[in-house]
Amino acid sequence: MEVFRGSFTQQEPIPEEGIAAALAVLRHGRLHRYNTAPGEIAQTALLEEDFARLVGAKYCLAVASGGYAMATALRAVGVGHDDAVLSNGFTLAPVPGAIAAVGARPVFVEVTQELTIDLEDLEAKIATSGARVLLLSHMRGHICDMDRLMAICDAGGVMVVEDCAHTMGARFRGVPSGRHGRIGCYSTQTYKHANSGEGGFLVSDDAGAMARAILLSGSYMLYARHRAAPPPEAFGSLRFEIPNISGRMDNLRAAILRPQLATLDDRVGRWETLYRRLEAELAGTPGLTLIPRHADEHFVGSSFQFLLQDWQPLRTRSVIARCAARGVELKWFGAADPVAFTSRHDHWRYAGTQPLPRTDRVLAGLIDMRLPLTFTPDDAGLIGRIVKAEVSAVFQGAEEVPAAVPLGD
Ligand SMILES: *Cc1c(COP(=O)(O)O)cnc(C)c1O
Repeated sequence: MEVFRGSFTQQEPIPEEGIAAALAVLRHGRLHRYNTAPGEIAQTALLEEDFARLVGAKYCLAVASGGYAMATALRAVGVGHDDAVLSNGFTLAPVPGAIAAVGARPVFVEVTQELTIDLEDLEAKIATSGARVLLLSHMRGHICDMDRLMAICDAGGVMVVEDCAHTMGARFRGVPSGRHGRIGCYSTQTYKHANSGEGGFLVSDDAGAMARAILLSGSYMLYARHRAAPPPEAFGSLRFEIPNISGRMDNLRAAILRPQLATLDDRVGRWETLYRRLEAELAGTPGLTLIPRHADEHFVGSSFQFLLQDWQPLRTRSVIARCAARGVELKWFGAADPVAFTSRHDHWRYAGTQPLPRTDRVLAGLIDMRLPLTFTPDDAGLIGRIVKAEVSAVFQGAEEVPAAVPLGD
């Protein structure tokens, strides 16, 4: 019986160029982004220019985390206490957390079987919620028809802020993810598409919103040292009005990130190879539903999802335990209690109970796994064979389902 021995949480090392750049910062000691020698341009300011160019945005701000980027974006577009903010019913905890961070109320929208936001429910909830902002999460890299979404939001007077934690490097109809809405937010946390431990970006073409974001991030009166920033006039009276809520990026992380941005496209290509190999291996597995991808979606396959639609929970648990015994770590969005990074809308009790029957049906059968780039295409093939064998065995009842099967973790 084949067993997989790799680690689902092991990312690639930082490229040598990034290590060298980080050592240079450590040696001169000017880690704070505004601590520069005469004539020096901080690594953080250079990183912002690099990222703005990469996604074709006028402005970019590097910050301390993806969650901070989202909360700052919401504040910068004027979301305040007790405002309703629309978001996906299927996402990760930092998304409703960013809404809660500004004292606002998340209003969840249903998710489809394609794992994207349900556009009909979005239209209905724009009408009933009074929300003026959608924090759209491209959860696990699944991108909806962005042209339709923007048409719906524009018609409803709803501003879109994009959570691109899983879509850095992705495109829809050629437009980089994060460039459809007013502001795009990204994460550079270790498990995302560029790794600085913690970190994030906001990008936008909106000078007023970005001036507010820069002031919010803790720029004091040093905003003129930013390069991918609106001109000093944009800060005019704002500098007296906007509170400082420190969450800056530092030069050490920026130095680590810059060489990684330069090779993002190459990594996206490698992720696609892993994803397609696994997908091909799983095709035709009885009882297992693959997630179809939109033809115009150029996605990043850094994780993989499939559905065990309408399975009894006991059988799903059995698949997870049997795969775990063979070294394949699956996460399940249907578990009663939140586990590690995986939690669900009804676990976020501060948001209140919101009935989402379609989302609940999808999540009850949703299995998720990471595909780190330390895996080879043959690893993806092996993982696929193991999952296929175990799903088939349980589905066809070839093995008896024990009365209680412990979860892998
Ligand atoms: C990781 C993540 C974020 C941002 O996370 P940070 O850890 O704060 O950088 C936002 N949204 C989703 C869906 C994520 O997975």
